[in-house]
Amino acid sequence: MKNGVLFQYFEWNLPNDGQLWRQLKEDARHLADIGISAVWIPPAYKADEQQDEGYATYDLYDFGEFDQKGTVRTKYGTRTELEEAIKALHDNDVQVILDAVLNHKAGGDHAEKFQAVEVNPDDRNEETGEPHEIESYTGYDFPGRGDRHSPFKWHWYHFSGVGSDSSTGTDGIFRIIGEGKGWSQGVDKENGNYDYLLANDIDVDNPEVADELKRWGRWVVKEFGFDGFRMDAVKHIDHNFIRDFLTEVRKDNGDDFYVVSEYWSDDLETMADFLAATDNSTDLFDVPLHFNFFKASEEGAEYDLSRLLDGTLVQQDSRLAVTFVDNHDSQEGSSLQSAVQDWFKPLAYALILLMREGYPVIFYGDYYSISHDCCEKEKSDKETETVDGKVRAGSFHRGIIDMLLDARKRYAYGDQTLLFDHPSTVGLIRHGDDEHPGSGLVLLISNDQDGDKTVDLGNGHAGERWHEITGSIQEEVVVDEDGKAVFTVRGRNLAVWVKAER
Ligand code: CA
Repeated sequence: MKNGVLFQYFEWNLPNDGQLWRQLKEDARHLADIGISAVWIPPAYKADEQQDEGYATYDLYDFGEFDQKGTVRTKYGTRTELEEAIKALHDNDVQVILDAVLNHKAGGDHAEKFQAVEVNPDDRNEETGEPHEIESYTGYDFPGRGDRHSPFKWHWYHFSGVGSDSSTGTDGIFRIIGEGKGWSQGVDKENGNYDYLLANDIDVDNPEVADELKRWGRWVVKEFGFDGFRMDAVKHIDHNFIRDFLTEVRKDNGDDFYVVSEYWSDDLETMADFLAATDNSTDLFDVPLHFNFFKASEEGAEYDLSRLLDGTLVQQDSRLAVTFVDNHDSQEGSSLQSAVQDWFKPLAYALILLMREGYPVIFYGDYYSISHDCCEKEKSDKETETVDGKVRAGSFHRGIIDMLLDARKRYAYGDQTLLFDHPSTVGLIRHGDDEHPGSGLVLLISNDQDGDKTVDLGNGHAGERWHEITGSIQEEVVVDEDGKAVFTVRGRNLAVWVKAER
């Protein structure tokens, strides 16, 4: 999609008020207007409790339709409200990407007894005890749903490991023992074997399980009309299953069915191995770029900005890179906390929204801000603002993101020249194309003092007046007779220069 933008429509601390789907429906028109091409929604099915974000998945078939786990609706609303939101988005030509949590299940309905062996959390190939009988909540009957949508019931033999023995009240990682059982081999090698993440680890090597999950994949797309999946926690799921699952789903929906996977690693080689093993059938979040942003924001002027793109997916294999600044896991207080500091966020967004490569993501928390009940201790350090009647903490960046989205739509076209040649002032040129008259731009970012660059725009631009559109610099720049101009940027800021309209 030409200059598409993905919007991650949730953050970790949203209130448990069942209002997200309704809000999304009302927001559909606005999202389309600002240039959003797809919305990534959180896991929309029933979790182990109403307030859960959806990642402690209980029933993949219950989208807020059945009275289960003490609630009909999920944290985000009911199935009907979700369907209305999807319709509103589709009416506005915005795709809907569902977060697919296939690694684990939580909230089992009843305990079962089976053989298992405890393993060392730091090396899951190492057994720390003898095989013995344990008891854990691995039985799923779905009493509120029954057989509707699927008759499949889950038992201990559909899982490869659990996180507790309820007979003794022991927490740990227990590998389930039985015929054909064991950790999947096509997973990340961290901790010896990273098949197990949390709760009840789904055994995708079990043929009944693989068939059921594929059936679900086809069902859910047909039932709701989703346009793609965001595959959760794929470093913990056998890559052969991921590949087969996506092949199956695309049988009904074609190769255009969009998929991005979360492989949380800053090691490009590991990511490349995963992409090869899955036949490049999925995009990947550019986690290394996120960590570069994080580091740059922490280190300030000490960080060498000329290295900002080094070791990133967008530099290595830009066709499959989904570029992002922060997400629900990296935000303050979350499991993979590595939040990019606020001063650097506009600079990072400018880069991902204006560069040619990558499919950029806007994070809800950066656009609408993060609810603050999580972060009482930080609250005092930051501004508190009121948005749509709700008090929000932390600074948020809607104003600048709107400007950058507009710039992406109007100017971010054509060939690109990277200007990563200085430790504290870097940027890029988009040269524009004929299809978009007046397009082309110069982006500069600085992490230290005011900076400038002499930029060669080409003879065709001689005599043009260019101006800065984020409001950080008022003076215009005139391109000289050779097509060169000196563009400036304020310290610790960004500047987006475009040709001034006559
Ligand atoms: Ca797993």
